[in-house]
Amino acid sequence: MKFIGAHVSSSGGIDKSIFRAHEINATSFAFFTKNQRQWQTTPLKLEVIKKFKINCKKYDFKPNQILSHNSYLINLGHPENEELKKSRSAFLDEMQRCEQLGISLLNFHPGSHLNKISIDECLERITESININLALTKNVIAVIENTAGQGSNLGFKFEHLATIIKGIKNKKRIGVCLDTCHAFAAGYDLRTNEACNDTFIKFNKIIGFKYIRAMHLNDAKSQFASHIDRHQSLGNGNIGYTAFTYIMKDNRFNNIPLILETINPKIWTQEISWLKSQQ
Ligand SMILES: [Zn+2]
Ligand SMILES: [Zn+2]
Repeated sequence: MKFIGAHVSSSGGIDKSIFRAHEINATSFAFFTKNQRQWQTTPLKLEVIKKFKINCKKYDFKPNQILSHNSYLINLGHPENEELKKSRSAFLDEMQRCEQLGISLLNFHPGSHLNKISIDECLERITESININLALTKNVIAVIENTAGQGSNLGFKFEHLATIIKGIKNKKRIGVCLDTCHAFAAGYDLRTNEACNDTFIKFNKIIGFKYIRAMHLNDAKSQFASHIDRHQSLGNGNIGYTAFTYIMKDNRFNNIPLILETINPKIWTQEISWLKSQQ
């Protein structure tokens, strides 16, 4: 079963995100549980939690069809201790919000070394940040996203994600979200069936399909191996349609949220219906 959706807006209350997903015929969705560009948070109101759970039931979204994305400000590999502490406690808040909402997948970008510490030191900090927060919570799975490797962001090599996973004590609560645009921009080709075979063989060898918990389906405005993160609507970028047909036909991508973060929400309904037709 393929669960296909998009990262929908939470404006007006997170319970509204569910209607938005339903309106575009999505069978999964991603959303922010708080303002993603601010540190400050207001606790979720009981009323909102209740409405969220009722709507999930009503529109038939189960925990493995919902992906929460954390705030862009959090850097779990921050080189400075005070800042690292701030990020770790914001991440704990994100995990607790998921727990309150009864959802199990929290998607996040690994972190950045800001050119102040080595890649290995930064990966160690990220791993420790995840371990600390997993110990303070229950059930929520930390889902690390691969990145394009813009600036000093880590996670652009499958080896980075594998190193983090290796250091996680509770392997049942760690997973990966594979973003096609980020992978392509990081130098993993997806333009032909052969290229897809090759990239997913690498993914399986280095990380392992058992860790895949979500995918972001984005075409790329950026060039191959450019390390620039620019999304594009499906078929209109440098990846092209082939990769998305390949993914739809491949059962290794079953039963996880397959989320569009493409640039034109007005055509999400068409993009979702096209993806469904490719199975
Ligand atoms: Zn992301
Ligand atoms: Zn993404």
